[in-house]
Amino acid sequence: MPIAASINIKYHIGNALQSKAMDPLKFVMEAWEAQSMAESAGLTVQELLPTLVSAAQQLARPPISKYRVGAVGLGSSGRIFVGVNLEFPGLPLHHAVHAEQFLLTNLSLNAEAGLRAMAVSAAPCGHCRQFLQEVRGAGDVEIVVSSEAKKEGKALSEFLPNSFGPYELLHEGSPLLLEAHDNALTLTLTEEEEEEEEEEEEESPKQQLKIAALEAANKSHAPYSGSPSGVALLDSDGNVYRGSYVESAAFNPSLGPLQAALVAFVAAASSPQYHRIVEAVLVEKDGAAVKQEDTARLLLNSISPHCQLTTFLSHPL
Ligand SMILES: [Zn+2]
Repeated sequence: MPIAASINIKYHIGNALQSKAMDPLKFVMEAWEAQSMAESAGLTVQELLPTLVSAAQQLARPPISKYRVGAVGLGSSGRIFVGVNLEFPGLPLHHAVHAEQFLLTNLSLNAEAGLRAMAVSAAPCGHCRQFLQEVRGAGDVEIVVSSEAKKEGKALSEFLPNSFGPYELLHEGSPLLLEAHDNALTLTLTEEEEEEEEEEEEESPKQQLKIAALEAANKSHAPYSGSPSGVALLDSDGNVYRGSYVESAAFNPSLGPLQAALVAFVAAASSPQYHRIVEAVLVEKDGAAVKQEDTARLLLNSISPHCQLTTFLSHPL
């Protein structure tokens, strides 16, 4: 047998054994799955979180730092969510997505109402301690750092005392991240689209993307600038992924709508290589104080150069 063939066979056997031993962790685990996994390990669901962190780290994509971060969170419904860090070579570092940002975006994409606790591979950085302030009751979220010998949960308010957050800038009734938003953005159809709609019973992929991006923009948490936005991505299998822009009261930790849509893509695509993203639509407000188009185009050109980005502007009624 030629050497190459023999190596190949060994490689396949190795992979099969590995996948049998440990299936990759899912980005969203249903409450019953979490419960049954915890029971078979003799743990509570909250105690299960730190045991899943190293599997979460395997899903990270940090080609710049090579430093894998995994965050595993317990939502208020009992579901378990995973977050990982994403880095984009060739671009300034602020394009990166931190694992805790990924985690909160994952909760938001799945309409989870709250975050109870989380386990992370390393203590959350200052940027993430700040970003987490956007959820109601953030100070009470219990955090376990799985790399520390003492796996004791501490409230976020202990990690970030004297915090600056949404309550400094917003009135009490304003919805926070993970709460229902309706930004009332609308789009008018172009003549070409009106004709297309009359001709076709089913929506074209472009129409589907436009609708998905508009919905994402309407759910965007952008109370500080009043500039909500949303992105929808189409992959080569014809699946659509959407992401809503999320602002932080401290501005710089904000997460762009393309990054949020990439979270959806990484979490849900069966084969999530960025070059498989073939089309993108951004919806934002005409004349907005914060505009996403240029920076989204920059990131998209870098990760999937053949992908076309179309922007639609919502005009005030
Ligand atoms: Zn961070």
